[in-house]
Amino acid sequence: MIQKSFVEMRVIGTAGHVDHGKSTLVEVLTGIHPDRLKEEREREMTIDLGFAWLTLPDGEEVGIVDVPGHRDFIENMLAGVGGIDAALFVIAADEGVMPQTREHLSILDILHIQNGVIALTKIDLVEDLDWLDLVEDDVKNILAGTSLSDAPVIRFSARSKEGLPELLDALRDCLASAPPRSDYGKPRLPVDRVFSMPGFGTVVTGTLSDGVLKVGEDVDILPSGIKGRIRGLQTHRKKEGISSPGSRTAVNISGVTVDQVQRGDVIIYPGDYKPTRRLDVHFRLLPDANQPLKHNDEVKLYIGSAETLARVRVLGSEIVSPGEEGWLQLEPIRMVVAVRGDRFILRRPSPGETLGGGIVVDPFPKSRHRRFLLETTARLETLAQGSPSEVLLQALTSFGIIQMKELFERSGLEGEITLEAVGELSRQGDLVVLPPASADQLSLTSDTLVVSRPNLDQIISRTVQIVENFHKNFPLKRGMLKEELKSRLSFSTRVFNAIILAIVNRNELLESGPLIMQPKHTIRFSPQQELSVNKLLQQFASSPFTPPSVKDCKSEVGDDVYNAMVEQEKLVQVSPEVVFDQAIYRKMVEEVRQLLKKNGSVTAAQVRDLFNTSRKYVLALLEHLDTIGITVREGDIRRLVK
Ligand code: GDP
Repeated sequence: MIQKSFVEMRVIGTAGHVDHGKSTLVEVLTGIHPDRLKEEREREMTIDLGFAWLTLPDGEEVGIVDVPGHRDFIENMLAGVGGIDAALFVIAADEGVMPQTREHLSILDILHIQNGVIALTKIDLVEDLDWLDLVEDDVKNILAGTSLSDAPVIRFSARSKEGLPELLDALRDCLASAPPRSDYGKPRLPVDRVFSMPGFGTVVTGTLSDGVLKVGEDVDILPSGIKGRIRGLQTHRKKEGISSPGSRTAVNISGVTVDQVQRGDVIIYPGDYKPTRRLDVHFRLLPDANQPLKHNDEVKLYIGSAETLARVRVLGSEIVSPGEEGWLQLEPIRMVVAVRGDRFILRRPSPGETLGGGIVVDPFPKSRHRRFLLETTARLETLAQGSPSEVLLQALTSFGIIQMKELFERSGLEGEITLEAVGELSRQGDLVVLPPASADQLSLTSDTLVVSRPNLDQIISRTVQIVENFHKNFPLKRGMLKEELKSRLSFSTRVFNAIILAIVNRNELLESGPLIMQPKHTIRFSPQQELSVNKLLQQFASSPFTPPSVKDCKSEVGDDVYNAMVEQEKLVQVSPEVVFDQAIYRKMVEEVRQLLKKNGSVTAAQVRDLFNTSRKYVLALLEHLDTIGITVREGDIRRLVK
């Protein structure tokens, strides 16, 4: 169990037209001018994470990424696959909405940044309040329909500091509603800067996502596969033992030289991710793009911190027109690391123009798709709806134990993708196949039973509870009849048997013939019952071959205790009337067997003489031996069953 020894720092990214006041605003908020960070880095005064930070009214420290100059904007926004937690979108009140304002907004929309605050800056330069209202209306118009449609617009001046408290409050509120970063236990750090620190060696920075990194762990650098080890970690100028998802992180890597790692690489734990040279994606071309995106176009792909040229294959149509969406297969010239659901941006290499972007639907397509195959686009549509795993898990959770074919019907999914997803869920332990099978030997057919892990856990604990209650109510019974349990659970025989097997495999219950019981359950007699049991056993010991009858026993110790003695196998009842001490019973069976082996057959009289007992006991014993298949009767004699 990893203990969080620090608070993860959230990151805000700035956006907006050049000269609209981003850097000035960052300086007002943080006291640090972004240009200063660059100087400090150049003088190697500190491991600079490329941002300044501010303290919000509630005491939370927040990082702000602001790389001066608009050309770095995309890299900035994509800093880390997880990107930023919130956007601080700057629009100068005197100029209003400009082309770059729109472009940046489109990119934030493509990246699905839903948390943000709009700072309408330089209000000191606007005297006419009607103009200010007009600009604000404009801003709200362009926000409509984007991921930032609900972002508050705050009027601000860096000169008079008017609006500063409101801006800080708005940032705090918007971060409070930003979802925390997920920890999937598979960290990846897209490298955005690499440098060397005297006395330390290679340091890389990035925004960590999907897991935590720890000092001392081995890492791989993808796509090269070069290996290294984490020598030190730093977030926000503090040395850390571990770094958590969402944090801006500097990693000091040993065993790797500065020229072996570059911007765009991804630091991972060995084996967690593979690079890919092909991506199936869903893409939207910006409405104000100059021309359509055509099959075979060469584009610049931005994903994580990577930037690479890529060839576009348009699927299902010839082109994607401005404002439209479509399916693409991208073939980057440099391998990239991507996960389903990652966002990406495409730009035209020259003249530089942001085309649009979208979401990775399949990072490992099996092959180059044939472009106009209905099957291909149908499959991508299914994948894009949410991962099949998510859709399946959703369906499973609401339906309990169901057959694969029902799961397919109810989730609206089918085919190979679904099978793959079932396999994946099973390997992760979220889905259980019944009867239990090992995840790498799954053989799935349409009637295979599947259940979600939480549902199975619930069913198992309910079942165990029923058996536990049974033990409480019937302490003298060894176990509960499985048939009775089955009708209590109202499962079909098939489902019931599968559940019992799963429970028995987990050692939570034991099966014994028709009975089921808790492993720790033992029959406990009260001291008084114990006395009467011992007294009865003494009677069995004093006349072993002519013991008390069933009726005698029951009147001596009571029905329940007698039944318990039988269940405990202290006594063996061979007929409605006749019962023997278990040791004597075994001795008798063995001796009859020996006699049969010697003589080939026995009569009741011979057995009676053998034990010096009466006909009543012998007939009961021999009939019992017939029933359990040891002997077979032929007229007056018995032989051993072959
Ligand atoms: P950036 O390119 O978006 O980072 O813009 P800067 O922060 O460099 O600001 C551009 C210019 O606008 C600078 O000369 C700033 O001094 C000026 N400026 C920024 N904010 C304000 C403001 O609130 N009021 C006034 N009057 N000028 C501002």
